[in-house]
Amino acid sequence: MGSEPHQLHTFFFPLMAQGHLLPAIDMARLFASRGVKVTIITTPLNAPLFSKTIDRDNQLGLDISVQLIPFPSEEAGLPQGCENISSITNFSEMAPRFFNALDLFQNPLQELLQNHSPDCLVADMFFPWATDIAAKFGIPRLIFHGTSFFSLCVLDSLKRYTPHENIKSETENFIVPGLPDQIELMRSQLPNHLKTPSDLGKLLERVRESEGNCYGVLVNSFYELEPAYADHYRKVIGRKAWNIGPVSLSNRDIAYKAQRGNIASIDEHACLSWLDSKKPNSVLYVSFGSVARFTDSQMLEIAMGLEDSGYPFIWVVRSKEEDEQRWMPEGFEERIKGKGLIIRDWAPQVLILDHPAVGGFVTHCGWNSTLESVSAGVPMITWPLFAEQFYNEKLVTQVLRIGVCVGAHEWSKFGGGGGGEKAAAVKREDIEKAVEQLMGGGEEAERMRNRAMELKEMARSAVEGGGSSYTDLTALIEELGLHPQPAV
Ligand code: UDP
Repeated sequence: MGSEPHQLHTFFFPLMAQGHLLPAIDMARLFASRGVKVTIITTPLNAPLFSKTIDRDNQLGLDISVQLIPFPSEEAGLPQGCENISSITNFSEMAPRFFNALDLFQNPLQELLQNHSPDCLVADMFFPWATDIAAKFGIPRLIFHGTSFFSLCVLDSLKRYTPHENIKSETENFIVPGLPDQIELMRSQLPNHLKTPSDLGKLLERVRESEGNCYGVLVNSFYELEPAYADHYRKVIGRKAWNIGPVSLSNRDIAYKAQRGNIASIDEHACLSWLDSKKPNSVLYVSFGSVARFTDSQMLEIAMGLEDSGYPFIWVVRSKEEDEQRWMPEGFEERIKGKGLIIRDWAPQVLILDHPAVGGFVTHCGWNSTLESVSAGVPMITWPLFAEQFYNEKLVTQVLRIGVCVGAHEWSKFGGGGGGEKAAAVKREDIEKAVEQLMGGGEEAERMRNRAMELKEMARSAVEGGGSSYTDLTALIEELGLHPQPAV
């Protein structure tokens, strides 16, 4: 008797934070586009962030479904409705509660695994216990960190050799040992949890352990972008990893790009026609991701720096409109009319970066933003703030040489805003100088632009049939298909 070939079924369980959720959804869709049955696990308020995209995919015949589990807000001491890191308003109080809440997803996830019997679980790094749970069901767990090979290698070196512990001052450079290039950092650029014991540090220790004993690592990157670090991660550190990115390139048409992640506060056509009216490579796109918040004094410096530099810009502003009067310079919006576009809250980022008028991206070096800039061939002004963003800056400016540093040297939780005021770390003159260096048409800027365009082509080839990321995903799916299924 012939039987239907088994359709591989994969669970995706992303962290509820745009920087992890969006690439995980793109990844899930990529798996589905290769014939894998996909189930995405999320909470009620996160599902609408991608439901239209999934509906469209399903209409095209992809097999993707969504299973909801409640967010344990009350147990975690979070207000109702706070189901995503981007809705955290008070970082020092709410962020620890949010991270504690993540452990409470163990039972509901087990129940779903019991009921659906998938063949594989792709779970975010922030669910370190997922490896053990997957093992209970006899299925492999893949981990997704949402960052580059480069930063995974830097972190490994920092944990292994602790070079920062022998440094006297916060601003002294030290070498990150054992890497393919000579990479230097300062203590002031390292996350707090690497320097002082904390609950987040403990959680990240568990993450590191689970990375070591899970089935393998999914990396949103492409081999040609960071070959020495992809090799180092696999061969020296010894992790099994698949590079399957840039996953944002799976959003091919305007509708997918415009609806990625949230409802944009600007109509995509209005945004595109504004960009259409500008010369190629003339516009700066300024955005600091989905979480970061600046102090009022820093917002004022950004406003003045952008105005003073005189290039057209799109600036995504995440502060509340009622707070703007505290920092927005008098008459700012009238003065910049036609030249500067402020988008409040959420911008269709991939759509904007892909427009030929955009010639530079002022970015906090969140990995998604960085890779989206690479994929669009746009050189960057790097302004890292927190997480692993200072490592990504080194990749962009020193290894790839497609970016100019704005001169940020101090790691600060989520950018330092949202409670407490202090002087702006980056002054308007620093911004103006970096903008001139990148947009002013000098020789080095031209070289950066050319290198960025070459990387864009490589990124696109990587995800096409036969490309490095395409091939890695094929290999992974084949391997998972062959993975023996012990009886539970
Ligand atoms: N993003 C967007 N519009 C916005 C802000 C962010 O589409 O207004 C997307 C962006 O394209 C990226 C993600 O949200 O895919 C942010 O991830 P990243 O790693 O850059 O930064 P994070 O938000 O995690 O700090």
